[in-house]
Amino acid sequence: MSKKLTKRSEDYSKWYNELVVKADLAENSAVRGCMVIKPYGFAIWEKMQAELDRMFKETGHQNAYFPLFVPKSLFEAEEKNAEGFAKECAVVTHYRLQNDPDNEGKLRVDPEAKLEEELVVRPTSEAIIWNTYKGWIQSYRDLPLLINQWANVVRWEMRTRLFLRTAEFLWQEGHTAHATKTEAIAEAKQMQEVYAEFAENFMAMPVVKGVKSDSERFAGAEDTYTIEALMQDGKALQAGTSHFLGQNFAEAFDVKFTNKEGKQDYVWATSWGVSTRLIGGLIMTHSDDNGLVLPPKLAPIQVVIVPIYKGQDQLDAISEKAKSIQSDLRRKGISVKFDDRDTFRPGAKFAEYELKGVPVRIAIGNRDLENGTLEIARRDTFEKQIVNQDDSVNFIENLLEEIQVNLFQKAIDFRKQNTSIVDDFKEFKKAIKKGGFVSAHWDGTEETEDRIKEYTKATIRCIPNDAKEESGVCVLTGKPSNKRVLFAKAY
Ligand code: AMP
Repeated sequence: MSKKLTKRSEDYSKWYNELVVKADLAENSAVRGCMVIKPYGFAIWEKMQAELDRMFKETGHQNAYFPLFVPKSLFEAEEKNAEGFAKECAVVTHYRLQNDPDNEGKLRVDPEAKLEEELVVRPTSEAIIWNTYKGWIQSYRDLPLLINQWANVVRWEMRTRLFLRTAEFLWQEGHTAHATKTEAIAEAKQMQEVYAEFAENFMAMPVVKGVKSDSERFAGAEDTYTIEALMQDGKALQAGTSHFLGQNFAEAFDVKFTNKEGKQDYVWATSWGVSTRLIGGLIMTHSDDNGLVLPPKLAPIQVVIVPIYKGQDQLDAISEKAKSIQSDLRRKGISVKFDDRDTFRPGAKFAEYELKGVPVRIAIGNRDLENGTLEIARRDTFEKQIVNQDDSVNFIENLLEEIQVNLFQKAIDFRKQNTSIVDDFKEFKKAIKKGGFVSAHWDGTEETEDRIKEYTKATIRCIPNDAKEESGVCVLTGKPSNKRVLFAKAY
C-alpha cells in the first residue's frame, strides 16, 4: 500500500477508508461488517468514554450491565421497537456444535441442541432492561432510576463503513425511569445537551441540536432528540440520539409504580446513546490530505518528541533533555511520547505522527541543546516555531488549547459556508447537490418528506431546537409551514 493518501477532493470516501487503515485506527475483519479496532483507535474511544462517563456521573447516572441476549418473547413485547429492529437482528438458535457425520473434519449445529426459545443478540437493550426494571420499581421512592451501560450491540446492517456504520458496534446506552412525563422529557433533553457539549468541547465538532421528524424517529419513541454534525464532504452525520419513550416500554413490560397519591401509574422512560460512530465523525470533521488531525482533548498522544541526532553520544545528551521535558509536561497532565527508536529516521517519524494526527511535535537536535531551544510544530496549521526550552511547558500548554479552539472555529466556519437557506425547489435541489445543510420550509407531512428523499436523497436531519417561528410555504408542495427544518444527505 502506498504511503500517500488519496486526496479528499478526488474521492472522499476512499480517502476516509485509507486513512482509517493507514493511521492504524481499525481494519475490516473476517466477519462481514464487523471491524477490529486497533490500539490507536481504541485509545481514542477510551478517551471519549472517560469524558462521557464523567459527564454521565455528574448528571447523576450509574453504570450497570445487562445480558447480550434478549429472549425473543421479551424482544417482541414492545411492538414498534421490535418491528423497527426486526430486519437487523442476529438470532441465536442453537447452543452446541458437533462433528458433521457427512463432512469429515467439519462441525455442524447439533440438531438436538436447539434452544427452546430463540435469543436475539441485542440491537439495543430497552426490552431486557425494562423487563428487569419491573422488579426494581414499585413506588415513587424508587424513581428516578438513572442507569447507563457500556456495551456492544449488533445491528445486521447491509452497507457498512468502518466506525460510521458497522454490524457490531460499541456504545453506551442510558435507560432511565421517571415518575412524570415532564421529568422524562427533561432527562431526554438534558442528555442531548450533554452530547452536544461533549461533541463541541471535546471533539471540536459543532452540532445542531434538534428533534427528529416522525419517519426518522427511534422505533418505540415518542420523540427523538438528535445532534447532527456536518462532515467535510457536505454530508450530515447523526452523532447521537436521546429518546423520550413515553410509557411505551412500561406498558409493554407492565412496569407500574405507586405515586405520591397512592395511585398506580405506568413509569415514564428515556434512552440515549452514542457509539464508536463518533470516531468516524471526529476523523471526517478535522482530518486533511496528510492524515488525521485530532483535537488535543481526545488525542491519545498530545505531544511527540523526536530527537535529531548523529551517533550515540548526541542521542544520550538529547534524551536526557527530552526526558526532562517529557516529565515536566506529564506533570501538567499532558500525554507525551518520546520516540527514540533508532530504526526510523526523523523524516519517517515526522510523517508517521502527521498521519496519526498528533497535535504537537517537538524536534530536538544538537544545535538546540547548545542554544537551549526546541522546534515546535503544530499539526493543524503546520506552523513551526523555535521556542526557548525554559518557556516550552507554558508554550505547549497554551498551544494545545489554541489548537483545540482553532479546530472548532474552522469547523464552525465550514458549517456556516455550507449551510444554505432556500425557498424554492429548484434552489433546493441545487443546494442539496452541492452538499451541506439546507434550511427550508416543509409542510410537516411524511409524504412530502418521502418525495423529497426520492427526488434528492436528502432527509430531514432535524427540526432545530432554535428554529424560529416564521410563516412560509413548503419548498415542495407550497403548503403553509411555520418553521424551517434542516435537510441534508446523510451518512
Ligand atoms: P439509536 O439507538 O438507533 O438511537 O442509536 C444510537 C446512536 O448509535 C445513533 O445516534 C448513532 O450515532 C449510533 N449508531 C446507530 N447505528 C449504528 C451503527 N450501525 N454503527 C455505529 N453507530 C451506530
